[in-house]
Amino acid sequence: LRGFAKVTRDVTEKRKAEEEKERLLRELKAAVAARDEFLSMASHELKTPLTSVKLNLRALEHRAEKTVEQTEGAGSRRLVLIHGQIDRLAKLVNSLLDVSRITANRLDFHREEVDLGEVLQDVLGQFKEDLDRAGCALHLRTDTGVVGRWDRLRVDQILSNLLSNAIKYGPGKPVEVDLRRLGKSARLVVRDHGIGISERDQERIFDRFERAVSSQHYGGFGLGLWISRQIAEGLGGSITVHSQPGLGSTFVVELPLSGLPGGEE
Ligand code: ADP
Repeated sequence: LRGFAKVTRDVTEKRKAEEEKERLLRELKAAVAARDEFLSMASHELKTPLTSVKLNLRALEHRAEKTVEQTEGAGSRRLVLIHGQIDRLAKLVNSLLDVSRITANRLDFHREEVDLGEVLQDVLGQFKEDLDRAGCALHLRTDTGVVGRWDRLRVDQILSNLLSNAIKYGPGKPVEVDLRRLGKSARLVVRDHGIGISERDQERIFDRFERAVSSQHYGGFGLGLWISRQIAEGLGGSITVHSQPGLGSTFVVELPLSGLPGGEE
């Protein structure tokens, strides 16, 4: 009888533990859903005033052009500063919007024929000033005709992210960019000679809001690489890193030309 009572107690306790586990899991899921909803709402709310501030600033600039000249550049330097800060905020808000799109499975791709070399030239043009200012010499090698069915803006976003990181984490050091067509894939390599990333951090940095210990003195939110990986994988490709602390990092993006895994049409 004692044995029977013990078995019954064990079964009851096990069931209670199971119920408790399920309750905690339900709470966790609800908390995650609430966080995602907040993120989505907050980023949408932030986007509207930010766009309005930017537009109004431009309008004021047009009106005040004379005054700005009269202040011998001091006013225009301030304007450049304000624009820079607004752009930084806009970039963060756009990243947060991407996070909420991805978590809600709403990252849609607008596939079209894209020449990756052309996109790369565009992005390099946008970053020319940043490269010069940071003292980073650019070494570029590209194949021509690396054309695939991708989303132009999303591919641009990956390239911009990798390039801005190479400049940010490797100021004063050269940046090498190499684009090739390998069979049914495009392979893009961005190599810097900056601070590098420890082996432990190399996988972590592709997670949401994760940053390497080595970069704690640099600004950032740890979203760019996570978003870039979601885009690359969404297009059937991949993004990986090899790095040695103190020597630099090499990021490799592979994209099937058809936009589908394995390069099938
Ligand atoms: P952010 O740079 O805004 O923090 P990212 O998602 O682009 O966000 O990068 C995540 C982290 O990966 C960075 O915080 C940094 O620790 C590390 N990282 C990314 N690119 C490099 C690089 N080229 N060199 C060294 N560390 C890097």
